[in-house]
Amino acid sequence: MACKNFWWLGLVGGLSLAGMAVAAEPPPQPIPVRQAEINDSFWSPRLQAMRERAIPHGWQYMQWELRALRKAGGQTVTGDLNGTWGEANLHKFLETVAYSLAQHPDPELERQVDGIVDLLKAAQQPDGYLHAYITNNRKPQWDPAFLDGSHDGYVLGHMIEAAIEYHAATGKRAFLDIACRAADQACNHFLGPKGKPGFCGHAELEMALVELHRVTGQARYLELARAFVEWRGRGKVTPAGPTPRAYFQDAEPVRQQRTLEGHAVRALFFATGVADLALVTGEADYRLAANRFWDSTTLRRMTITGSVGPRKEHEAFGEDYELPNNGYYESCAACGLADFALRMFCLERTARNADVLERVLYNAVLHGMALSGTNSYYQNPLTDRNNARYNSWVCCPPNLSRTILQAGRYAVATTARELYVNLFIGGRYECQIGKTTVTLAVATRYPWEGRIQFTVQTKQPATFALNLRRPEWCGAGEVRVNGQPVDSSTLTDSGYWSLPRQWRDGDQVELNLPMPVERWAAHPNAGDCRGKVAVQRGPLVYAFEGLDNAGRPAPTLGADPAFGVEHRPDLLGGITVIKGVAADGQPFVAIPFYALANRQKSTQEVWVNQSGMTPDDRWWEGNLYRRWQLGK
Ligand SMILES: [Zn+2]
Repeated sequence: MACKNFWWLGLVGGLSLAGMAVAAEPPPQPIPVRQAEINDSFWSPRLQAMRERAIPHGWQYMQWELRALRKAGGQTVTGDLNGTWGEANLHKFLETVAYSLAQHPDPELERQVDGIVDLLKAAQQPDGYLHAYITNNRKPQWDPAFLDGSHDGYVLGHMIEAAIEYHAATGKRAFLDIACRAADQACNHFLGPKGKPGFCGHAELEMALVELHRVTGQARYLELARAFVEWRGRGKVTPAGPTPRAYFQDAEPVRQQRTLEGHAVRALFFATGVADLALVTGEADYRLAANRFWDSTTLRRMTITGSVGPRKEHEAFGEDYELPNNGYYESCAACGLADFALRMFCLERTARNADVLERVLYNAVLHGMALSGTNSYYQNPLTDRNNARYNSWVCCPPNLSRTILQAGRYAVATTARELYVNLFIGGRYECQIGKTTVTLAVATRYPWEGRIQFTVQTKQPATFALNLRRPEWCGAGEVRVNGQPVDSSTLTDSGYWSLPRQWRDGDQVELNLPMPVERWAAHPNAGDCRGKVAVQRGPLVYAFEGLDNAGRPAPTLGADPAFGVEHRPDLLGGITVIKGVAADGQPFVAIPFYALANRQKSTQEVWVNQSGMTPDDRWWEGNLYRRWQLGK
């Protein structure tokens, strides 16, 4: 291993060790997946579908990747091999399996993964490089010119993440050792004596290297992540093709870049890496950049369902407020936004970040995966017609499964003195708060009902602040501790009810979040949504499927649609439907956006006409969406 700590900093203009500030207090840590025992009526069936359907379904799509690994390992194989990015799917699948094993040990499944780890070991080149597609096709490693097509770093990043999670789930080191050797090869390639500036055209490796640094304590991984971020936008590489540099985040240096641009998935993975660097280094410039990217994405370029990336060409972000309802909105971009949101929460500790996490997870991400756990959507438009789900094994299915299986990690985070509850998912969370282990038991029927009961379980009294997110969609809300209501002063500017006290075993907290059906409007610059409203209840955006409405694509809502709700355990895995009467007197039924397209072909609409609505460009205060009522 040739690279030594920080020697390479001279390669990167504008940096100095003096610029590395140490955060005053360590940021919140999401709890490990294995410490979240989810048990509720909403998420448990979804996790079960991932375990029992998505994983067995996924194995059949691993054959290209496994053949490629065997060939790279010296075996003779017949049949098609993978393409340039296919191996990342294998690693996302292995990460999915790792999360499943963390929650539900399965020796047979573990044995299958161990067999793949053996193939990975055999396919790893003597210098540590491991991307069978490149090896088998005798292509140059880390081709600096092939920025829009090469996926070395994307594949390695996903391998590192899979290896970290497999180690966390099983305690086995072999996969992690392989990933470290491959990461060392990348360090040597870019930062070693013969190293040249470069990066992978598909960001991903940055955040994986930061995570590998966290796990191993090795500074070189952090150095390489930083170098990849710093080298972008500085003309360090010359692309071979005509694809715009923004496509692979090479248009501007990170400190000057004001908005996230280009390919939405790549851009979000890049932004997540920048946020990770901010978290680990405490450096203000990274934090500022991450916040600029966050604001440009969530305040001007995100659908109400949490999707991003409306353009089919280059699968890209558009301009501010370019939010066509028939946009592209790839599932992987939604998964990327969920991870970016989690990092931004850790960075800023504000409910606003977790609000976006909830919005994207409960709407765009769940919409991407069919209720069956097998089929999936690549695109997630807000208006559609007869868009059957399909089985193509592309980037999205294993990304969706790994994201859904991380639900527990998204829900709860801790510092040495605080316990944050960001998502309201029933189950038991084993939390490390300083030197004390506390279990938080959560009972709820969320998102169908807004009552959430928390029970603290601790062997000895524990002093910490229990911080409960007040969701953006909730205008009110009530908190009780051991039956006594807390006063409004507990609600902080960060958007949490903060309850600092000495907690004892058996202490009870009850949170009640009223869940009226509400209409939401979009900023008037979002032209496709003008004169229209979206219907939301709790965290769920609703939509109209022709199947429930006598074939009518969407109602026009009158002043008072007389909304009512009904829980239908028999429908679409159990959902609460919204009923009402349209302006023309016809009844309508709306179902959660995530549940669309799980039945026969039909029409699907999120934004529906609202009679009496006039565009109002006042009082938006920078927001992209707000509640709407007639006359306001
Ligand atoms: Zn995808």
